[in-house]
Amino acid sequence: MTGVAGVIGWPIDHSLSPAIHNAAFRALGIDAVYTAFAVPPEDLAAALVGVRALRLLGLNVTVPHKRAAMLLCDEVSDVAVATGAVNTIVPRDGKLWGTNTDVEGFAGSLAGARPRRAVVLGAGGAAAAVVVALRKLAAGGAAGLSVSVVARDADAARPLLDLGAGEVLPWTEPALAGVLAGADLLVDATSAGLDETRERALPAPVPLDALAGDAWVCSLIYHRRPALLADAAARGLRTLDGADMLVRQAAASFTLFTGEPAPLDAMRAALRAAQPTAR
Ligand code: NDP
Repeated sequence: MTGVAGVIGWPIDHSLSPAIHNAAFRALGIDAVYTAFAVPPEDLAAALVGVRALRLLGLNVTVPHKRAAMLLCDEVSDVAVATGAVNTIVPRDGKLWGTNTDVEGFAGSLAGARPRRAVVLGAGGAAAAVVVALRKLAAGGAAGLSVSVVARDADAARPLLDLGAGEVLPWTEPALAGVLAGADLLVDATSAGLDETRERALPAPVPLDALAGDAWVCSLIYHRRPALLADAAARGLRTLDGADMLVRQAAASFTLFTGEPAPLDAMRAALRAAQPTAR
């Protein structure tokens, strides 16, 4: 009766989620395994039917399925509706319930920061999760926090206005210079930091010197140190990569799968072991 949980994506071979979740099962002595399922888009619906039929503990959902999977759930959380995406699905009373723990993951990783002017780069699902997390931060004490979004396709970013962003700007030198002047939080929620080739293909350079002296610069990338964070650190700015967000979103999913508080330290240690560049 070993429980089974997993992550579906396409491709999925580089996922760190199995290492993180299996460490958590071991740490708590739970008889369960977590595995990666490579599921192409045309098989997504069948795979989700299988979650119910096989009585899985639950599934994480990653690229490219986060939006499509939401439409295939029977019920979804408010956070899933707000972001238009699910990264976690659990069977509940014979139905599939979906939510997006990326929001909780990012909000948790920012704990302690009290930004007043935030700028988010990107228009994808991760940017939506960040904007919703910042809105929650504003509601929970960071009153007056303004959120601007900058994207190379500003039209694609317009839906973020409904999520709580105050403005959407095109990724141009003048727009970046204006919006970053005095901002104290910059979140790169694009996939540009995934490798050097993409980093070099930014529509315009990001003028970090315009930021406030005590600003935080965050990237959601967790498998390497993006150039943006290296540049920010060289300027004395505070930096945060995506590793803590990754662990915290996994922890929130783990609790949904098992009903148990997640062993965060064991999950962090597993991430560091699986990927020595993560801190
Ligand atoms: P999407 O593919 O949905 O969105 C990517 C966004 O990045 C799009 O707005 C895209 O613009 C933009 N972009 C890509 N390359 C460039 C570039 N060279 N210059 C400017 N903009 C660019 O991805 P997600 O939103 O799902 O994820 C974004 C990143 O966040 C991924 O790298 C992912 O690994 C990471 N992530 C990390 C998490 C964590 O726990 N740490 C959780 C979730 C995501 P366009 O639309 O024009 O192509």
